[in-house]
Amino acid sequence: MYWERVSEKIFLFTSDRYALVNSTAVLTERGTVVIDALPFPDEARQIARFLEIRSGMDFYSLILSHHHMDHVYGLYAFPEKLDVISSELCRQRLLEVGESSLAQAREGDPAFEEVTLRIPTVTFDTGELLVDAGDKTFRLFPLPGHSADNIGILIEEDEVLITGDAAMAIPIIADGDWQQEIDTLKLIKEMKPDTVVQGHGEVILRGEVNTVMDLYISYLECVREKAEQVLKKGRDRKEVWDIPLEICGLERVPLGVASHQLHIANILSVYDKLKAEQEG
Ligand SMILES: [Zn+2]
Repeated sequence: MYWERVSEKIFLFTSDRYALVNSTAVLTERGTVVIDALPFPDEARQIARFLEIRSGMDFYSLILSHHHMDHVYGLYAFPEKLDVISSELCRQRLLEVGESSLAQAREGDPAFEEVTLRIPTVTFDTGELLVDAGDKTFRLFPLPGHSADNIGILIEEDEVLITGDAAMAIPIIADGDWQQEIDTLKLIKEMKPDTVVQGHGEVILRGEVNTVMDLYISYLECVREKAEQVLKKGRDRKEVWDIPLEICGLERVPLGVASHQLHIANILSVYDKLKAEQEG
């Protein structure tokens, strides 16, 4: 695991074991607020202990950006009495798939035995939710596209936007919606945050936000174009496998070996949707 400071009171933890997934902690007057957790129990426990010692404070609340397991599992390492705040859709998705996903993870790696699933206790359905932590205000609002339940968390005093997986080193839409994700990336640009903390990968600093969001938008446009080409030429979905990530303007460094698979899953999800529309 790596860690760094985003600002005086904001800490970022990044897993070196799973796709550079990020967890953010904000020290506030009322205690520490943690946004998303890392999946592996030893990393999650280390973070909880580090924050206790470093801040000398109790935790205030936990916020979950969306229901994907790489952000959820480690929440168990924080005190049980804390509320977990998310979108209502996130809570529903976790009730539907949480336990079965966890059972599967435990089969693959016994380290997950100690994880208990945390189901969100405070949710919002539409619009926004403000979490007042005294000297810090967290504005929670929908940022769908990567998944329907994904939310953004803006720390108003710092203009730091934590996007969940709405922004990540390679935008992933295989479990989401292409158009929604494009709209979400445009919204992030319009918000002009000072700093963007992505769900996976490096922090995007002031002055880079526009450029990086444009890169992600043009990547997704390329994904759609490739899917359309394969479909138009009447070629089989297997042939999508040969389309490299680099042709769409991104590279493999941030997410390593998983990059190609994630990229192909993106193209196939658009291909399948277009094909269904054509046939339907
Ligand atoms: Zn995700």
